[in-house]
Amino acid sequence: MFEVNTMIKPFSVEPMLDLVNPANKKKMEETFAEVARQFGKNYPLIVGGERIFTEDKIVSLNPSNKVQVVGYVSKAKPTHVDKAIAAAEKAFDSWKRLDLRARAACLFRAASIMRKRRYELAAWVAYECGRSWGDADFDIVFTIENLEYYGTMVEHIRENKNLIHLGPNEDARMIYIPLGVGAVISPWNFPIALMGGMVGAAVVAGNAVLIKPSSLTPVVTYLFTEIMEQAGIPAGVINFLPGSGSEVGDYIIEHPRIRFIAFTGSKDVGVHINQLAAKQAPGQKWIKRVIMEMGGKDAIFVDSDVDNLDYTADAIINGAFGYQGQKCAACSRVIIHEKNYDALAEKIAERAKKLTVGPVENNPDQGPVVEEAAFRKIMNYIEIGRKEGKLLCGGVAGSDKGYFIMPTVFGDIQPDAVLAQEEIFGPVLSLIKVKSFEEGIEVFNNTIYGLTGAFFSSNRTHLEIAKQELHCGNLDLNTDCTYSIVGASPFGGFNMSGTDSKTGSTDFMSLFVQPKTIVEVF
Ligand code: NAP
Ligand code: MG
Repeated sequence: MFEVNTMIKPFSVEPMLDLVNPANKKKMEETFAEVARQFGKNYPLIVGGERIFTEDKIVSLNPSNKVQVVGYVSKAKPTHVDKAIAAAEKAFDSWKRLDLRARAACLFRAASIMRKRRYELAAWVAYECGRSWGDADFDIVFTIENLEYYGTMVEHIRENKNLIHLGPNEDARMIYIPLGVGAVISPWNFPIALMGGMVGAAVVAGNAVLIKPSSLTPVVTYLFTEIMEQAGIPAGVINFLPGSGSEVGDYIIEHPRIRFIAFTGSKDVGVHINQLAAKQAPGQKWIKRVIMEMGGKDAIFVDSDVDNLDYTADAIINGAFGYQGQKCAACSRVIIHEKNYDALAEKIAERAKKLTVGPVENNPDQGPVVEEAAFRKIMNYIEIGRKEGKLLCGGVAGSDKGYFIMPTVFGDIQPDAVLAQEEIFGPVLSLIKVKSFEEGIEVFNNTIYGLTGAFFSSNRTHLEIAKQELHCGNLDLNTDCTYSIVGASPFGGFNMSGTDSKTGSTDFMSLFVQPKTIVEVF
């Protein structure tokens, strides 16, 4: 089963489904109906391969239809964590000894299973997170790419080939070995892809993990865990432990036998985890490695010289309102040179008003926001926005059957306003007017975050200065700020946006290993 001579084909980008094609559209409609018939099932924890059902459950709801239960998922307690750590340590002992290529083969098989179940998985993601079709399909595409990329690139974490050899009577090598048992904590918004990316890199490197999914997306992450098992990853290497972040999450992080934590989520939770992980628990014999990707306050800056304001407005709409603005890379500030401000503001509002909002099975431009707490928080920001700026469109909720919010644009927002500083994570966009290119740079950099950003200009000098001065992990020129492709444009942010781990690169994989230098004199 664990062949070592697995063929590694070159990595290629996975094409998105063509959902305009009538046959594909029909298949998607049928799959949505079929998945809806499976709502309301019970899902267990997975600990060392064992299925454990608990009394206490997470009730996962469909945000397009608040009363509909997608599934009931068992909730882990600290005793399950202890059991999972023991199972993971046992599994780690043999998993770490397998050749990298044998481990990579598991990722290739998992990607292939997902490709075959693509429609079904996309429909589950759509229902559980409120994503429209293309967006939901993207989560599966992104997972396939993550798994195949980390599988394809395994040789990068075998050995450092750049050592200098000093003489004929000695041999020196620096090899990479796995870290041990770690925790992977993922957010709800790219529920399979971000979990899959972190888990893929961790396990291909030879580690074993406890996964703590978001309490909003436990069903789809259960399906992911099952697929990883079907692909041949042995019991105990991946343990599925949904549960409350503050209870089971904290317990995992503080556990002395957890060696690393890979986290993607909000700034506040990330900072909290970083603090917990820094404390040495009794019996702990290492410094926990912390890999963090957190929130953003991403901006698109539009210069005085832009060739095409329509193209720019389209890009802004895509960046701001794709997936209801619930991407870490979503554009939430547009900084506009005064020369273009009025014309561009009008074009943005005009387009935002035309976006359709509704339940995901109808494939609208915008689905619901993910849950009630998010809905309230976003509506509260809209109230703040009414005082801080001028409402250009939206500002109201949609049908109360689900958590719908109309695409909202505020003009005349000041750079220090709440709306210009805090991550909203919803369909709310703030426009900020600046008098010069230099002022635009200052406003762009004026938050605690530094995840993504974009600059639109036809001025070559400004483009070159922007490359140097706009301080964010992913900077896009003349395209919107949500551009990220596995292996082609690795992802990760500066400042309070995280540890800049650059997912989708070989650098990311290096975070899951430790180098060991071995010298022999003979
Ligand atoms: P979140 O509220 O921070 O939750 C992320 C994960 O942390 C969830 O699994 C959550 O579990 C868990 N958690 C919460 N409190 C915890 C605690 N005390 N100890 C341990 N774990 C805990 O984030 P979210 O709302 O799911 O996702 C949205 C955020 O993620 C946004 O800020 C977005 O920008 C960011 N994000 C960043 C990236 C990136 O690559 N930089 C990508 C996607 C999303 P529960 O659900 O049980 O609370
Ligand atoms: Mg949250």
